[in-house]
Amino acid sequence: MRYYSTRNRTDPVSFATAALTGLAPDGGLFVPEAIPQFPQAVRSSLGTMDFHDIAFETIRPYVHPEIPDTVLGDMVLSAYPFTAPLIEAGDRLVLELFHGPTAAFKDFGARFMARAFSYLRRNEEQPLHILVATSGDTGGAVADGFFGIEGISVTVLYPKGRVSPLQERQIAGLGGNISALAVEGSFDDCQALVKAAFADADLRKHLALSSANSINVSRLIPQAVYYAAASGRALAGRVDPDGDATPRDQAKSGGNSREDGASGGLPWKGVPLTVCVPSGNFGNLTAGLYAMGMGAPIRRFIAATNINKTVPDYLATGDYRVRPSQATISNAMDVGAPSNFERMAAHWSYEELRRMIQGIPVTDDETRSTIAAVHERYGYYLDPHGAVGWKAIDKAAGPANGPIGGAPIDGPVAVLATAHPAKFAETVEPLTGPPPVPASLKKAMEREPNARTIPADISALKEALISLKDPL
Ligand SMILES: *Cc1c(COP(=O)(O)O)cnc(C)c1O
Repeated sequence: MRYYSTRNRTDPVSFATAALTGLAPDGGLFVPEAIPQFPQAVRSSLGTMDFHDIAFETIRPYVHPEIPDTVLGDMVLSAYPFTAPLIEAGDRLVLELFHGPTAAFKDFGARFMARAFSYLRRNEEQPLHILVATSGDTGGAVADGFFGIEGISVTVLYPKGRVSPLQERQIAGLGGNISALAVEGSFDDCQALVKAAFADADLRKHLALSSANSINVSRLIPQAVYYAAASGRALAGRVDPDGDATPRDQAKSGGNSREDGASGGLPWKGVPLTVCVPSGNFGNLTAGLYAMGMGAPIRRFIAATNINKTVPDYLATGDYRVRPSQATISNAMDVGAPSNFERMAAHWSYEELRRMIQGIPVTDDETRSTIAAVHERYGYYLDPHGAVGWKAIDKAAGPANGPIGGAPIDGPVAVLATAHPAKFAETVEPLTGPPPVPASLKKAMEREPNARTIPADISALKEALISLKDPL
């Protein structure tokens, strides 16, 4: 597969170049020259295929021939020792994307990206150094994804005192090839420092630098996998049993009655899935559009946002206006200028996007009342991001269907649960009581955070990076 910049369709690059450089030299985002199609044999067996086989078939055309099939097969096995169960909660389906080590969907992209980078750099002498600025969530997923990966070291910059204790342990508790810098400043300062480091010729002489932010194609493509898997299962009338980290109150819900594959007769069998995606930078939704373009049986998408509703407003009016972000309780979606919009607009026209996506904004009050009501009725704990998605489905179904428990929209509908509720316990717990804590988060909480504090100053960052590289 060749990749173009969204701003210039004349100089295609390889997957390796697109992945390792991240952003195109003209400032655009890399997009595949065409969206590949699943072979018919794959398309018709998505409902029964193993998750790793679906991962292989989904990713392969985007990385072929640079990542050979045998290598890709091993990569998906080692990246995904967990899956994405499609479970039932009340009147709808929930695609749980938090069964990975940091309990949020970014594990799917970060863990594949780390392995792809390591393979693509296998013949390089110089180790690669990844710099990431984080406001909390991305840093943890990237740190965990790259932990122990050969030939690559990572430095995560986070605003000192402004991430949660859990996030700090996820970022700064691993050690090994992962270093953490607590910056005396804001997230914006961290981002400015990373930018300054990339622009510093002297530093680049010492270190092979790369980034791992969410616009990287190697993080985006693997996110198409769980859309293909879930839509295939739904079409076959199947759901999954609860996973280990499924946050269900057994006493309240009576447990999940479904056994794997035993539910062949669900009422929506044969009808394509409507998928609701809680969105911020719109990387996750773009990956869903890729899966649909490849032939996954998806009817359409609901793009759920919090009050940062740049894209819903665009879909409603045709007018794309970025704005400053506003803080909400679903803070991983506090984005006023979604970075992946440029990618969506490069592939599809406004009319096409409008046919595929319905945009629905949700307020913090609505989010809180949804977390409480879904727990009260169904014994299921939503995190604030998943709750935005749940509420958006209610709103999309129209007022006649009531606030919760409305009829499904044109067949099966699934909301993406992008994070585990225990990650946002400070918001969830007052509404539902304490959510169950998955093993991955318990393990992270036991780690001792070990970060070096630096002022928000490029010379301090340079010094820290060079001393990491050269401990002598
Ligand atoms: C990153 C994130 C989102 C937003 O995903 P985008 O791909 O940026 O739209 C939603 N929920 C959670 C929990 C996240 O971490």
